[in-house]
Amino acid sequence: MTRPGEDAVGGVIDVAEAVRGGARSALEVAEACIAGIRAGDPALHSFLYVDEEGALAAAAAVDAARAAGEALGPLAGVPIGVKDNLCTAGVPTTCASKILEGYRPPYDAHVIERLRDAGAVIVGKTNLDEFAMGSSNENSAFGPVHNPWALDRAPGGSSGGSAAAVAGRLVSAALGSDTGGSVRQPGAFCGVTAIKPTYGRVSRYGLIAFASSLDQVGPLARSVRDCARLLEVLSGYDPRDATSAVRPVGQYERACERDVRKLRVGVVRDELEQVQDPDVRARVDDAIAALESAGADVVEVTLPTARYGLSMYYLIAPAEASSNLARFDGMRYGLRVAGADLTATYERTRAAGFGPEVKRRIMLGTYALSAGYYDAFYLKAQKVRTLLRRDFAAAFARCDVVLSPTTPTPAFKLGDKSGDPLQMYLADIFTLPAALAGLPAISTPAGLSAAGLPVGVQLTAPAFEEERLFTASRAVEDALWRDAPAPAFAAPRGDRSAVSSAAGAPSR
Ligand code: GLN
Repeated sequence: MTRPGEDAVGGVIDVAEAVRGGARSALEVAEACIAGIRAGDPALHSFLYVDEEGALAAAAAVDAARAAGEALGPLAGVPIGVKDNLCTAGVPTTCASKILEGYRPPYDAHVIERLRDAGAVIVGKTNLDEFAMGSSNENSAFGPVHNPWALDRAPGGSSGGSAAAVAGRLVSAALGSDTGGSVRQPGAFCGVTAIKPTYGRVSRYGLIAFASSLDQVGPLARSVRDCARLLEVLSGYDPRDATSAVRPVGQYERACERDVRKLRVGVVRDELEQVQDPDVRARVDDAIAALESAGADVVEVTLPTARYGLSMYYLIAPAEASSNLARFDGMRYGLRVAGADLTATYERTRAAGFGPEVKRRIMLGTYALSAGYYDAFYLKAQKVRTLLRRDFAAAFARCDVVLSPTTPTPAFKLGDKSGDPLQMYLADIFTLPAALAGLPAISTPAGLSAAGLPVGVQLTAPAFEEERLFTASRAVEDALWRDAPAPAFAAPRGDRSAVSSAAGAPSR
C-alpha cells in the first residue's frame, strides 16, 4: 500500500534511465504512479482527471518498443501530469471552468505530441485557477489544490495542481503554463524547479489561450536537470503557432554541467530592499552568496520600469483575455444554457459558466479596449512594455542573468487573500517583468523558511538564453537544495480512493 507522499515514482532522468536500462518496466512505474495518486491526491486535489487507461496503454507501448529492440526516447516511461488548459485528444480538458465541462478536444496540443513522441506517459490533467487566472488555485471551479508542505496553504497558481503533484511526488514532472508567473510562482511555493521559456520557444498550439502576447508552456520538475531534459523535448519550431521561433534549440541538459565561473549575476538592489519577508530575504542572500562562492561575479543593475509591471499586466492580460474568451458562448464547446433567443443564450451560458475572477477580467479587459479608452490604457501599457524591454537590454549589457526572489513571501494560507484581488495580484510582482518582456525565467528552490516552507529564487536571461538559466540555477540547487527535501504530507481521514478516472468529466 502506497503511503501519501511516498516516492514510488522517481524523478524524470532516474525513471527514463531505469526504463531504458531495463531496471524498471514502464508499466511498473505507471502502476506505482497511479497507486500514489490514489493514496495522496485526496489530500492535495492536484488532479482533475486521471487517465488510468491511457497511462497504462502508453506505458505498455514503451515496454513493447523496448522488447522489440527499438530506441527509446529521452522520456521513456516517465509519468507526467499536464495542466488542464492543454488539449488532450479524447480526454476531458476543462481549464477548471464549468463552461468547458464535458469538453473532449479532438486533438493533442503540440507539447502533448512532443511528450508522447519522447516516450512520456501522460497520467492525467492537473488542477488550475479557472482559465489560468489566479495565484492560489482558489479560482478553480472544482475546488482548490492544497500545498503538500502545509495542507492549509495555497500551492500558488495558476499551475498549482502541476506544482503540488510534482512536490507531492505523485508524478515525475508536470507541464504548466505561464502568462504572468503561473509556473514560477507555484514552483516557488511548492519547492520545485519551474521554467518559463522565451516567448516563442515552445509552441502554444493546443494551449487554450489566456493572453496571447504572454502565454508560454513550461515544465515543472524536482530538479534543474529534470527540467532541462523536459524543455529540450518541448522546444522547437511548430508552423501551427505563428509566434513559434525558427531558432535552434539549446543544449539544456549539457548546460547543467557547466560551471558559473565568471558568469555575471545582476541584482536589483532597491528591489531586494523592498522585500519585507525575512525568510525570502535570507534565502535570496544565500543564493547570491552561493553563486559568488562558485565563482560568479555579482553586479548591480537597475530595472526602473519593472515597478509598473502590475499596472501593465492588469491592462494587457485582461484585454487579451476578453477577446480570447469570446469564443466560449455555448455554441461550440461545453456548457450551453438556453435562453429565449441567441443573445439570451450567450448571456445565460456565460453568466453560469464563468467564475467571478474570469468575469472580472473580461469586464476589465473589455473596458480597457473600448472606444476612447484604447489609447489611454492598452496602447499606453504596450508603450511602457517597450520601455521595460529596453531596461532589460541595458541590464544585460552589464550582466548575463538577473537574480531576484520569485515571490514576495512563501506560500500563504488558503483563504488569506481570496477576498482581495489586489493582494492576490501582488503575489506576482517579481514574475511579471520577464513575462511582459518575453524573456526566459526559471524559479528554483533556495531552501526553506523558518516555518519549513520552500522559498524560490528567480533567474532571468536574455531571449533564447535558457542555457544560462540552467547553468546558474543548477549552481544554486547544488549549494542550497542538493538533497531536494520532499514534504511529508498526510492524507486526511476518509475516502482515499476518490480519484476520478476512466470516463466522464471531472468528478470534483
Ligand atoms: N497570477 C497571474 C494572473 O492571475 C498570472 C497567471 C498566469 O501566469 N497564468 O493572471
